[in-house]
Amino acid sequence: MARIDLDHLGHTYDSSGPQSTYALEPFTHTWEDGETYAILGPSGCGKTTLLNAISGIIKPSEGRVLFEGKDVTELPTAQRNIAQVFQFPVIYRTMTVFENLAFPLVCRNLPEQVIKARVLEVAELLNLTSSLHLAALRLSADAKQLISLGRGLVRNDVAAILLDEPLTVIDPQLKFELRRKLKEVNRRYGLTLVYVTHDQTEAMTLANKVVVMNRGAASFRSERRSSCSSAPRMHSWGTS
Ligand code: ADP
Ligand code: MG
Repeated sequence: MARIDLDHLGHTYDSSGPQSTYALEPFTHTWEDGETYAILGPSGCGKTTLLNAISGIIKPSEGRVLFEGKDVTELPTAQRNIAQVFQFPVIYRTMTVFENLAFPLVCRNLPEQVIKARVLEVAELLNLTSSLHLAALRLSADAKQLISLGRGLVRNDVAAILLDEPLTVIDPQLKFELRRKLKEVNRRYGLTLVYVTHDQTEAMTLANKVVVMNRGAASFRSERRSSCSSAPRMHSWGTS
């Protein structure tokens, strides 16, 4: 896992436009190694833009992204060593559930035994053990999203895991359980985890630090929570 520094990172999709067209207003922030963050904000405030700038899906129009002090702003996604889980399921349609979960590890030529052990561990965590032999295509939307989530969690060598509203399509009952499990995963593996949500309860349940975004980060706040439920300390930075 890695510390991630955002150095005056900002993005506009309209490079010819004035500053008011910022999807993400320039800001500077550090995601500490091994910390769990939630990014909380309404639809359209720039959450996905921020995640995509970190993972390299978009090249930010301003500023830099650094992993462990190394500037990765110009590096393509594949070279950033990031796991990203999207709002809607992304599965390999011709593969079984096992093969889907194993894929990121197979690509890295890990020994078969290691792959099997990791896949079984993640499958157990996500209640996918009994579905491992099934074709992923045949599963429900819920289960497909669990596979996407599992693929995000299966590697333990990534710089960070970015989750973009990953529980949107998940049944409310299961959501509660999954939040608890994600928290457990994080405790077990000490991941650098950035979790985007518009659900305040989800943010507060899952993360140690909550970053509140508003209108392209015009009002950016960080709320530090301790693991017990003491009152949060607030501080803010950015342009407000
Ligand atoms: P969120 O994830 O918080 O809903 P987004 O990052 O998706 O917000 O979007 C932030 C702003 O950028 C919105 O105004 C949205 O319409 C705009 N936007 C997002 N993607 C694009 C794009 N590919 N081209 C142009 N504008 C975009
Ligand atoms: Mg989004």
